[in-house]
This record gives sequence, C-alpha cells and structure tokens, in this order.
Amino acid sequence: MRCVLVSKTLDLRSYIGAALARTAPRIEVVDHTADAPAQDVRLALAWHPPHDAFEHYPNLEAVCSIAAGVDNIIACPSLRSGVEVVRVVDPGQAQLMSGFIAWHVIGHQRGFAAFRAQQRDRIWQRRDQRRAQDVSVGILGNGEIGQRVAADLVHLGFPVMSWSRTAKAISSSSRSFHGPAGLAAMLAETEVLVNLLPLTAETRGILNGELFAQMRRGGYLIQVGRGEHLVEDDLLAAIERGHLSGAALDVFTAEPLAQAHPFWHHPQIAITPHDASDVSVHAVATTLAATADAVSAGRRPPHAIDRARGY
Ligand code: NDP
Repeated sequence: MRCVLVSKTLDLRSYIGAALARTAPRIEVVDHTADAPAQDVRLALAWHPPHDAFEHYPNLEAVCSIAAGVDNIIACPSLRSGVEVVRVVDPGQAQLMSGFIAWHVIGHQRGFAAFRAQQRDRIWQRRDQRRAQDVSVGILGNGEIGQRVAADLVHLGFPVMSWSRTAKAISSSSRSFHGPAGLAAMLAETEVLVNLLPLTAETRGILNGELFAQMRRGGYLIQVGRGEHLVEDDLLAAIERGHLSGAALDVFTAEPLAQAHPFWHHPQIAITPHDASDVSVHAVATTLAATADAVSAGRRPPHAIDRARGY
C-alpha cells in the first residue's frame, strides 16, 4: 500500500519514517511533491495539509491524522467527500493529558500562583488550604481523553461533571450533562472549566463571555482543546472584571503565540506551547497500519471519524 506524507508544517518522514519501517514495512511511503507517483496512492498521513494537496491523488481512500484532532484535515478544501479521515487513539496520550489537567486543577485549588509570588518576594506565609471536594470541575468533552481526565480527577477527590453532545450512561463517580440545557446546568456549578472538545462548526468560539458569565465567580479555565474555541478578548475581560480568577492556556488561535500578545505577561494566565500531551509515534504508525489493512480489505478503518459531525 502506497501512502503519501502531506504537511506544510512538519517533516513527516523524519517524524514517522523509522517507526513505520518497524511497524508496517509493507507501507510504501512517498513524499508529497509535484512528481509524486499519484495514481497508486490510496492512503495519506497528513497534518496541516496544503489547500490543494489532495487534488493530486484521485484514488485516495483514507487520510490519517497524527493526533487526536482532525480539524486541520477536514478543513482542507481539496479533500473529497467519501475519503475517510482517521484519528489516533492513544491511551498514553490520555494519561499525559490527565496529568496536565490535574497539575492545573490542583494548582488552582492550592494557590500555587500565590506561593510563587510569595517566593519571589521572600514572604513566608501559610495559606488556608481548600479541600478537593470543595472545588467542582466541569469538563467540556466526554470522549477518549475527557473520560480518562474525569476518572483521574474523581480519584483525586474532586467533584467532576462532564458535558457531551449526546447523553451518556450514568456513571457512579462523575455526573454527565449533554446538549445546550445540560451545558447551562453544568456551568452553574462549575468552578474549574476544562475544555476538551474537538473543533467543529458547533464548538468554534464556545469559550466566550456569555459562557464565562454562567460559571461560578472566581472560576478558572483550563483550555486544551483548540485555539479557535476561545474568544481571547472575552477571556481577558472576564479576568479583568474578576469573574474568572485566571486561566491555563495550551492552545491559541495563532500558534506560535505572537511576541506582542497580552497573554504572555498576564499575571493570571499560565501558558504552555500546545504541549499538554502528544501521541506516541508508535501509536501513529499502528493507526496507519490498521488503516492500510482496512483499506486493503475494503473495510471502514478503525477510528474513522464522522465527517458530517466534524469529529
Ligand atoms: P473525542 O472525539 O473522543 O471526544 C469528543 C467529545 O466532545 C465527545 O464527548 C463529544 O460528545 C464531545 N462533543 C463534540 N461536539 C460537541 C458539541 N457540539 N457539544 C457537546 N459536546 C460535544 O475526542 P478526544 O477526547 O480524543 O479529544 C478531544 C479534543 O482534545 C481533540 O479534538 C483536540 O481538539 C483536543 N486535544 C488537545 C491536545 C493538546 O495537546 N492540547 C491533545 C489531544 C487532544 P459525544 O460523546 O456525544 O460524541
């Protein structure tokens, strides 16, 4: 099976070449160039593909992402309908993300930013410590990663609520909400809001002033979904007027974050460079191998997303 590597931001051959040679030596990898042998290409591995990239491959059947998110692939105008888009599911990534979220939830609970400020000023002063059970966490997204995050936060003693598009089976440990009414109900009880949604037409701009106003006063945002979920000025305004106490941001509308961006120096905003978690290259290679097998057999690949839904 011939697979083309398509990205305008990453050298995918350096990234995956060795892992693919080990995991799936039967996949023949070609680079996306004007003279690439295009007719026999039935599979692509892509990340931020150029707009016209898929025009070259009339027999393309599936495109694999190198991540959990597929928004940059679905948005590619040359991707024909009917071509399957496949995401990576990697339990190791969910574990990494869970640690990242716990770090920030506990940071908010225990007041780590205040301790850092005290250290800077050489102030020895204990602080009243809040119990985990008094800090409610609402998670936007109850999927592969959101479920792991919720389970681990419950284990740490936090009251956890999760929001999804469709109703979920009742869980004994965390409470589930769905749909617009469910979102309002969850936000009313939420102190720390974690965004783990995919970027779709429905979720773009969801983290806005109207949503922040529905959270508990003094709330905190942990934003690890996609930059386009957040209306950045609305976040600054919500912090400015004290409705939110701060935010941890891992993803941004424009990455890397511009040098002049106000987030860099904001005392109540913590920034990481889209590094909350990543998939292992082994998981990507395994996903590509499983997709190649499915395409060869005429089956739908595992972890193919619903293109109409957007995730
Ligand atoms: P999944 O597709 O497994 O889960 C998505 C969840 O979001 C589902 O529960 C789904 O609901 C819910 N959802 C989607 N649309 C809506 C909507 N309109 N209203 C309410 N709920 C909705 O994704 P993952 O958990 O694997 O990953 C989630 C996202 O996290 C990724 O798409 C990516 O954007 C981000 N991410 C960020 C990383 C980082 O390093 N910053 C790393 C990895 C992921 P339902 O269950 O009903 O379908």
